Amino acid sequence: MAKNNPPDLNIRPRILYQVAKAAWEGQLFERKEEICHLLQREFEDKATRRLVANQIRLAMGLEPNNSEEVINEYDEEALMGMGSEPAAISNLQIYENCQGTACETHCPLSTITRDELGQASIDKNQCKTDDQCAQACRFDNLTDKSQFVPLINLLRQNTHKVYASVAPAFAGQFGAEVTAGKLRSALLKLGFSEMVETALYADLVTIKEAFEYNEHVKGEHDFLITSCCCPIWIKLIENKFPDLMVHISPSVSPMIASGRVIKELEPDAKVVFIGPCIAKKSEAQLPDLKGAIDFVLTFQELATILEAATINPASEPDEENPVASWGGRIYARTGGVSAAVGMTLEKLIPRRAEKFNPIKVDGIPDCTKLLEDIRAGKLKANFIEGMACKGGCVGGPGRLLPPEEGTARVNDYGNAAPAHTPVENPQVYSILAKLGHYHDMPAMTGTSKMATILARKLNPAPPK
Ligand code: SF4
Repeated sequence: MAKNNPPDLNIRPRILYQVAKAAWEGQLFERKEEICHLLQREFEDKATRRLVANQIRLAMGLEPNNSEEVINEYDEEALMGMGSEPAAISNLQIYENCQGTACETHCPLSTITRDELGQASIDKNQCKTDDQCAQACRFDNLTDKSQFVPLINLLRQNTHKVYASVAPAFAGQFGAEVTAGKLRSALLKLGFSEMVETALYADLVTIKEAFEYNEHVKGEHDFLITSCCCPIWIKLIENKFPDLMVHISPSVSPMIASGRVIKELEPDAKVVFIGPCIAKKSEAQLPDLKGAIDFVLTFQELATILEAATINPASEPDEENPVASWGGRIYARTGGVSAAVGMTLEKLIPRRAEKFNPIKVDGIPDCTKLLEDIRAGKLKANFIEGMACKGGCVGGPGRLLPPEEGTARVNDYGNAAPAHTPVENPQVYSILAKLGHYHDMPAMTGTSKMATILARKLNPAPPK
């Protein structure tokens, strides 16, 4: 079959900006065709014009429809209703008739296959939208579905309290001078009711992981695989190393923890996770986790919305209210989870910290190699941290900074934390007290109560 690839377009940032601007100004329906024509007029061939229309649909959170028109009346209804509905499932989409091959070789989970005519397709049940294929595709043929149009609708409707849960990797992403306080002010101006740092909920998860280690790693050959951060790492194990699943710690991610805790305390609230990760869009929709997070935005998407709304976080007032410990803040870089859990174990159950022996890997090839080594009995550690992106979440596909710079900013921000571990963070106890229902466990010690509350709220199965 003849090659049928469109040119190297690089139009996604412009599409996101135009769609965000029109949505922010409440003009998306009126201007949808104008946006389409504005972007399509650079291209004469029908296939590329269809691709542009499909990219606009994906930016609006709709499925591609392989037409040169952007939306029809049914889409309009769906789009109007999405502001009050849970987030649409996001999936990467492959442009029809594409004959490029980079996506297949970059998919860590082997979810992209070809039919007898050479047409590539994605197994949507296996895909975790980590975006490595999209980054590898120079034709803009792969993209993830954005959720910011229904989110902007929700913010404009002003019917719910909407929380932004901002990932620990945010440090420095919006400019060196943009502190948590400035980012919070910018988000409030955008219409959010409040911003929380996901790192505070990482503090809760760190304590839980320390308890899980204590529970599961007793003998010389025992080990625990941390589950808490990276959905791609977990999917890799699920797909290719299912025999190791039994060693995964039963903890939700800090993102899910933030949504669960906020909604436990304010059931009508909506929670939006903002981070560098595209795979979180799928994680938020997993059956045992669904409901905690309503929308997921990448840093790149948030930067686009802020630009469209002419809000510059650097110029906003700094009303920082530090809440997370060093341990929670460094989750964003490789080795952060292990370091946080190790230090927490020392404070919480010192006798068990002595033999804590972590190993960390990042990048799919190194993650795969380590898992093969475990299978081959070559493991020389008892706490295993894997991050799919090189450098950890600071290397995520929706980042704004190079990973090395992101790591340096995260380390600086971590070192400035008022508390070193979650055990020393008063905010952690404040949340536990609110979640606690201490009256139903009067005979327990403080540590046992903490472990019980965290197991009730932060195990993967939905809370009762
Ligand atoms: Fe997402 Fe972080 Fe995993 Fe990358 S390392 S896939 S950004 S959770």
